[in-house]
Amino acid sequence: TAFSDLHLCPELQFTLQSLGYDKPTPIQEKAIPLILEGKDLLAEAQTGTGKTAGFALPMIERLSKTPADPDYHHIRGLVLTPTRELAVQVGDHTLAYGKHLGMRVISLYGGARFDNQIRKMKRGADILVATPGRLLEMVSQKKISLAQVEILVLDEADRMLDLGFIHDIKKIMSFIPAQRQTLLFSATFNPPIESLADTLLKSPVKVST
Ligand code: AMP
Repeated sequence: TAFSDLHLCPELQFTLQSLGYDKPTPIQEKAIPLILEGKDLLAEAQTGTGKTAGFALPMIERLSKTPADPDYHHIRGLVLTPTRELAVQVGDHTLAYGKHLGMRVISLYGGARFDNQIRKMKRGADILVATPGRLLEMVSQKKISLAQVEILVLDEADRMLDLGFIHDIKKIMSFIPAQRQTLLFSATFNPPIESLADTLLKSPVKVST
């Protein structure tokens, strides 16, 4: 399979070419078409498999089909990550992938100054990558609205559960529209992950590599 078989728009194909990505990785090959169809996904994928592009590329593609309000960029894609390092890394990659489509991407995480992060948010973003604790703080204080989220990604969901983020995640859900596409990525499947998937995903397709 080539990226050109995955029906990504020319801008994304150009970006992938300039990044030197020759062909999709196995998880990308499986996940991208399903996400483009609008399916919920339960994906087993380890770090290093190319999972970030596996969810970020089709998310960008879908969001770019219904352009953002030019006056204010609402958060339409939300990615939850377990750690600050991962939030930064996923944010950087997503920004690089969405560059030629004008996607605005912001990362939020604990440990950084609250006022600086609020200032960052004022400019608006199409895609937000955040750790659950800091995001919940900002949403509870109405510094951020998640009312327009169309696609939700839980990245490294098993690590988020290990770090005790389950309650924060459940509270965050109450601020996100029920009608949305949800993608859950985890390095392992176990009963806690299956039960989280049961509460968050609608008729998910299961993929593994
Ligand atoms: P990830 O598993 O998402 O952390 O990605 C691991 C690394 O693989 C990252 O540095 C990506 O830039 C790179 N990568 C992702 N997809 C591809 C691809 N299709 N071809 C080459 N490199 C890739």
